[in-house]
Amino acid sequence: AQLDTLDMIVLVALLLGTVAYFTKGTYWAVQKDPYASAFTNGSAGKQGKSRNILEKLDETGKNCVVFYGSQTGTAEDYASRLAKEGSSRFGLKTMTADLEDYDYENLDQFPEDKVAMFVLATYGEGEPTDNAVEFYEFINSDDVSFSEKSSDETPLTTLQYVGFGLGNNTYEHYNSMIRNVSKSLDKLGAKRVGQAGEGDDGAGTMEEDFLAWKEPMWAALAEAMSLEEREAVYEPVFELTEKPDMDHEDDTVYLGEPNKNHLEGQSKGPYNAHNPFIAPIAESKEIFNDKARNCLHMEINVAGSNLSYTTGDHIAVWPTNAGKEADRFLDILNLTDKRNTVVAVKGMDATAKVPFPSPTTYDAIVRYQLEICAPVSRQFVSQLAQFSPNDAIKAEMTKIGNDKDEFSKQVAEKNYNIAQFLYYISNGEKWDKIPFSIFIEALHKIQPRYYSISSSSLVQKDKISITAVVESVEKPGAPHVVKGVTTNYLLALKQKQHGDPSPDPHGLNYAITGPRNKYDGIHVPVHVRHSNFKLPSDPSKPIIMVGPGTGVAPFRGFVQERAQQAKMGEDVGKTMLFFGCRNSSDDFLYKEEWEQYKSDMSGQFELVTAFSRESAQKVYVQHRLKERAEEINELLLQKAYFYVCGDAANMAREVNDILAGIISEKRGVSKQKGEEIVKGMRAGGQYQEDVW
Ligand code: FAD
Repeated sequence: AQLDTLDMIVLVALLLGTVAYFTKGTYWAVQKDPYASAFTNGSAGKQGKSRNILEKLDETGKNCVVFYGSQTGTAEDYASRLAKEGSSRFGLKTMTADLEDYDYENLDQFPEDKVAMFVLATYGEGEPTDNAVEFYEFINSDDVSFSEKSSDETPLTTLQYVGFGLGNNTYEHYNSMIRNVSKSLDKLGAKRVGQAGEGDDGAGTMEEDFLAWKEPMWAALAEAMSLEEREAVYEPVFELTEKPDMDHEDDTVYLGEPNKNHLEGQSKGPYNAHNPFIAPIAESKEIFNDKARNCLHMEINVAGSNLSYTTGDHIAVWPTNAGKEADRFLDILNLTDKRNTVVAVKGMDATAKVPFPSPTTYDAIVRYQLEICAPVSRQFVSQLAQFSPNDAIKAEMTKIGNDKDEFSKQVAEKNYNIAQFLYYISNGEKWDKIPFSIFIEALHKIQPRYYSISSSSLVQKDKISITAVVESVEKPGAPHVVKGVTTNYLLALKQKQHGDPSPDPHGLNYAITGPRNKYDGIHVPVHVRHSNFKLPSDPSKPIIMVGPGTGVAPFRGFVQERAQQAKMGEDVGKTMLFFGCRNSSDDFLYKEEWEQYKSDMSGQFELVTAFSRESAQKVYVQHRLKERAEEINELLLQKAYFYVCGDAANMAREVNDILAGIISEKRGVSKQKGEEIVKGMRAGGQYQEDVW
């Protein structure tokens, strides 16, 4: 039978689809951020590249590989720092490696004269980070087998390794990744050099834990590998070449555009963590009634972008640094006159990947690419000492870099960002000897910030609401107020939308119209991250939500959705929201809306409020939960879903414990049994958290 053209097209499409399906992940190397890390091995794991780490070490002449299991980039960053230090202090030939880029069956042939380092973050409830899942399952499996297939009980005797974990002690499975991986490696006969270190984000001591761990580790490694320590010579990872004959307005120069499509003015989807959608802000307003604090409600229009969300997802906002901070940074480095000079940035070595596109300008790097406002690390102070404007400053820098207490007093407690600190320590004298590469290595690439979507996709599928408190942190003893990067940028966008031609919140000014005015007309770069924080699929199930402050954000979306379902005639179960704030007049978020939802849900919605500053005794949502213990227990017995959103450090943990207490008391079981029941609820998805 003859096939006509349409049949042919359909057949070819089907065939391509099938090939694509079966080769997924093999020939279609999953596109990762091309600008992900300052020190990453850019080529491994990509199409046609070897997944054999031993071959890779041989080919590139390396004798130290630093593997990282990283979710948000912090572990990756520590891995880069170890790689760099190993090279500059001990002459090791180092590389970093994303755990998911390699296979591990040949670890039993790891050469004795090399070393593997593992920098592993623990994610969520003791889970591996996404990129570490396969490695973790492999190394922990009961019948782990290596390519040599020896029946040896300890096949990894030639593997020497060091390990550092990043965890948070407010979670139950503190640092379980590094603990479990070292246990498995030790059991398999690998030789651990020094102690496996553990950094604690919960106590806020990650950096100090890392510094305290690495010195004895280096000493032990130097001994094990007969390494000679040398005066650390700074070796730039990146080469910056100024292009004085290029104009910054040349259309090949990146002025802050995140990638080539954006540069060429043809941004296209899919929009994701590597490619933001430049979204119009449909509406923005202030929702606090408090002169001293701001909370923004924004409606971000994603129509036409193909971005979709479901209620409970997160939206990521890509920030721009404040002009005031960019100016300060360029000024102290004596780069103000060169801010628009075009620079080409490339890695000195094939394994160094530039974290942003090039050619670009100093201004664009500082404004759009680097986290210049973040706290300063002690190690960075040490590193910068050698580039001090004079010997007296160098001595001071060295002292601060070497002394934890001095650092705390002169840097951390003052809430300095790097430029503020350099100003302070040199009394305004310019720092024009610092190679710029060092900032690209030591400062993080600017991170998008996540916001819990505060609208329902059933009600407004193309418009995403966010509810964000503008960060403004005053600390006694600190010479200035810390202004959050993203939230103040959003505040400026709101001011512009409301008619201020050059918004300047708190004296910060912003390049609000974006690179080449591409964000003009009030746009903001965003992408959507899907989450597991979800309503029960059956709306008749009861739900209990605990969301003080901006923790109420996703619950506005939840309640909006249930109210809509009720209006559509669906059977909607009891919907209970515990909300807390300072008082009912200043920061009672969405105060008027709740009344409407109550009427839409004909009594099935109840808002329980706790105002901490309205009575002599402070009242929080935790108190209200206890007061309603009877009812909460009843609802849980009817399989109510229980949700908590907001502050991870204190509130969420306390709510967990209070709930365990309620269950224990009302069901007449032990406290421990109460805790086990809550744990079971978590495992079964009946207890869900969205905390930060
Ligand atoms: P940043 O610049 O990132 O500063 C944050 C904090 O870091 C400051 O407050 C300060 O304590 C500290 N800091 C910064 N610089 C320094 C310095 N130099 N010295 C000392 N300390 C410093 N927020 C909401 O308002 N609403 C939400 O719905 C919401 N949902 C979230 C959901 C998730 C899943 C996550 C992870 C976070 C969520 N957040 C939410 C928090 C949000 O992502 C941001 O962290 C928050 O808005 C602050 O961002 P920022 O860029 O303004 O502040």
